[in-house]
Amino acid sequence: MGKSKEENPFQNMLKQLKTACDKLNLDPGIYEQLREPQRSVIVSVPIRMDDGSIKNFTGYRVHYNYARGPCKGGIRYHPNVTLDEVKALSAWMTWKCAVVDIPYGGAKGGIVCDPPKLSQGELERLTRRYTFMILPMIGPEKDIPAPDVYTNQQTMAWIMDTYSSFLGYSAPGVVTGKPIPLGGSLGRAEATGRGVMLCTLEALKKLNRDPRKTSVAVQGFGNVGSNAARLIYNEGCKIVGVSDVSGAIIDPEGIDITDLLEYVKTTKNKLIEGYNRGEFIKGVVEGNKALLETQCDVLVPAALENQITGENADRVKAKLIVEGANGPTTPEADKILDEKKIFLVPDILANAGGVTVSYFEWVQGLQAYFWSETEVNRKLKEIMVKAFNGVYETSDIYKVNMRTGAYILAIRRVAEALKLRGLFP
Ligand code: NAD
Repeated sequence: MGKSKEENPFQNMLKQLKTACDKLNLDPGIYEQLREPQRSVIVSVPIRMDDGSIKNFTGYRVHYNYARGPCKGGIRYHPNVTLDEVKALSAWMTWKCAVVDIPYGGAKGGIVCDPPKLSQGELERLTRRYTFMILPMIGPEKDIPAPDVYTNQQTMAWIMDTYSSFLGYSAPGVVTGKPIPLGGSLGRAEATGRGVMLCTLEALKKLNRDPRKTSVAVQGFGNVGSNAARLIYNEGCKIVGVSDVSGAIIDPEGIDITDLLEYVKTTKNKLIEGYNRGEFIKGVVEGNKALLETQCDVLVPAALENQITGENADRVKAKLIVEGANGPTTPEADKILDEKKIFLVPDILANAGGVTVSYFEWVQGLQAYFWSETEVNRKLKEIMVKAFNGVYETSDIYKVNMRTGAYILAIRRVAEALKLRGLFP
């Protein structure tokens, strides 16, 4: 299915890039280099299905820009994956690594598939064949994949094993987000949610608001959404809404997130549907509408892109938006939110906790020396708070919103690296 213009994430990324480059008065030669990925690969991934038939899947891996270091970015399994989506996500990874100032370029990968409809065996064969197809692109010094939507620690273990099998020795540095026994980092699983929580607290400070008197709604209850909801809840905020593909739970009295997490763990498909407290709005469309437009102080979109659009932005009631997902707000929506004076912490800052602890995992692996969870969380907080304030100051200096501030900060860093490296040949 073709996406409408407002929904093409790459076109949206280009608009955000242009706004920041104009403000920066960037050298046109650098802007020219930043408008396209450095390398995009499309692979065909044939696998044998459980019924004996052979099915061919399409996969992508994009290296957006590696001026600042090896490429870094997740792999997404989803039926709606397109090359433009992967390109946008790889660009956002480039800016994100620059915002938190870690020495990486940006990449992203994806396979067009519907994971809930695949068996474990099919998923494993798909992952291994895809790894084989992108083998020349990846490696601890080249490009280090990580999990994204519908991929997890197990997916990373299969990639690491396939890559290592070709090398003939163990190469844990090829991926991050690995299980702990294979060289994963403590704190990685919840790192993105933790970063979202840290950004929420920093933003509340700037808005002079007490977390204990703040209500929060979270869209998406997967890795990012559930950890963000839990950690924000632990800081004393009231969680008045959560949602996932099954629908939304709205409860102005506050949802007991610990209890909901326990419930979700016990269900077969790990969904919030069937939880017996609060009001349940069934269905993905109805649930999203209820969640995004619910009465709350803070909204955390942590599901997919294009959730807050020109169509619904006017009905958003939150005064603060913290983007756990990548690209949840379209440029049309941004304009409306700006007019409504809503403070927005952009994705490339708000969800950078994941890639930051991925970086820690990679560093620990390279040194073969592992840190305690307390140390990981302390270092993450240091980086997130510094990045938040860097973006806040940049947006203050340039008199722009936090999104443009984050882009200005990031693009200035990438542009500096590109300039110093010069143009080959
Ligand atoms: P996930 O697969 O663990 O969870 C996704 C959640 O969104 C699930 O609860 C799912 O039910 C829900 N969902 C899926 N489609 C939906 C729809 N159409 N409407 C409403 N809800 C829907 O994925 P995740 O890792 O939590 O990633 C979520 C977002 O965060 C993505 O945009 C991803 O790119 C971004 N992100 C993830 C990480 C990470 O470390 N996992 C890091 C940075 C950014």
